[in-house]
Amino acid sequence: MKLLFERSRAGRGLSVLPPLDVPECPIEPSLRRRSALDLPEISEVDLSRHYSALEDRAYGVNDGFYPLGSCTMKYNPKINEKVAGLPGFLRLHPMAAPEDQQGAMEVYYRAGKCLEAITGMDRVTFQPAAGAHGELLGMLLIKAYHRDRDDAARRKMLVPDSAHGTNPASAAMAGFEVVSIPSTQDGRVDLEKLKEAVGPDTAGLMLTNPNTLGIFDENILEITRIVHEAGGLNYYDGANLNAVMGVARPGDMGFDVVHLNLHKTFSTPHGGGGPGSGAVGVKAILQDFLPLRQVEKAEEGFRFVDPPKSVGAVKSFYGNFTVVVKALAYMLALGPEGVREAAEGAVLNANYLMRALEPGYTPAVSGPCMHEFVLTLEQLKRETGVSALDVAKGMIDRGMHPPTMYFPLIVHEALMLEPTETESRETLDQAAKAMLEILDQAHKDPEALKQAPITAPVRRLDEVKAARTPILKYTRE
Ligand SMILES: *Cc1c(COP(=O)(O)O)cnc(C)c1O
Repeated sequence: MKLLFERSRAGRGLSVLPPLDVPECPIEPSLRRRSALDLPEISEVDLSRHYSALEDRAYGVNDGFYPLGSCTMKYNPKINEKVAGLPGFLRLHPMAAPEDQQGAMEVYYRAGKCLEAITGMDRVTFQPAAGAHGELLGMLLIKAYHRDRDDAARRKMLVPDSAHGTNPASAAMAGFEVVSIPSTQDGRVDLEKLKEAVGPDTAGLMLTNPNTLGIFDENILEITRIVHEAGGLNYYDGANLNAVMGVARPGDMGFDVVHLNLHKTFSTPHGGGGPGSGAVGVKAILQDFLPLRQVEKAEEGFRFVDPPKSVGAVKSFYGNFTVVVKALAYMLALGPEGVREAAEGAVLNANYLMRALEPGYTPAVSGPCMHEFVLTLEQLKRETGVSALDVAKGMIDRGMHPPTMYFPLIVHEALMLEPTETESRETLDQAAKAMLEILDQAHKDPEALKQAPITAPVRRLDEVKAARTPILKYTRE
């Protein structure tokens, strides 16, 4: 597909600026450009077709089933976009005086109260821009807490081997030494190994529950108790709160700090790198260390407050505001019952799809799952040579987005599916049927599957080359 610059023809295109009807205000010559701005010149119809063609090549939740595990690619009600686009929210300047942005401050305040109720935490901040950013803030809070108690010898952060890759990365970025805790055969934290690992150098534990295998660790109270008794704090990676919101609260499971991905669970579409929000909730013991510019209720209206021992700001201004507007609109529309129903629907749909696939596919761990599940295609690979990658590519030709592949790392030939609560039973049936057909094809005609996808705009890409030597800049001839 040609780029706009390649389609540009000198003199083409149109100028729609109206004639000047105000006094001209010339720009000082030293500040003027010396050559014309190099912009593509193209007619409106060609421009319009260009963007339609781009849209045709993209695949999103509006196009079909998108079971990308660990990402919660669910349908987000369009009304929430409308609410976030209201001029009063959209045109607000971040440097407006507090008395001129009371409405926006109320959004932060009320969204915070909702998430405090959902997570069982005492205070929420919306400053971090994404999940991993929230993790980093959480690590800085834990560090500040230990320092404040003259306990800076606590340098080790415990992270189970099933963790999302961002967890060890965030802990390392905050200056902690990462200690990996092995999982048991059935995907839970190995309690004995955890007991051996904790000590006076333990700063804390980072845990996802349900974990990346889609399993809820029933030993959670025991796990958080072991860490607390050793003097550490517990961090909950709540990027995917979809399975537990309205049902179980990290605050009740013994966690001291949690981050949520509003762009997964709370109605902001993602996948194209758009704005996110990694809201962070803390128990009262960490409240004094929160970032600057917390919104609090005042005698009258709302005010900004800098916590006394703040770790500082982690982002300019107050976070990605419109994402918070969408989250609040979503939570208010659903109400406490609706939030719980969404979580129950997510878990039901995942279990339904897992069972529907069981005639041919093997879950990595047995028993019911939470909002997502992991399949292992190790046996299929041994018998037919067809890999998890081949099956994923085959799904593209059957009109679906592929699941997450080769993650978590502790499962071989892994496919991780998260159907989400917004899919209908018919869609799940259709997906299961298509995936079982792929399995059939793997046995009858494995070579054909190795050619997939044949219907997509591009065939198989050289993923290693794309990762090692990416071309990120367009060079003009
Ligand atoms: C998505 C995800 C993250 C990272 O969130 P980003 O917004 O992409 O930084 C962290 N942990 C888990 C479990 C996730 O699924």
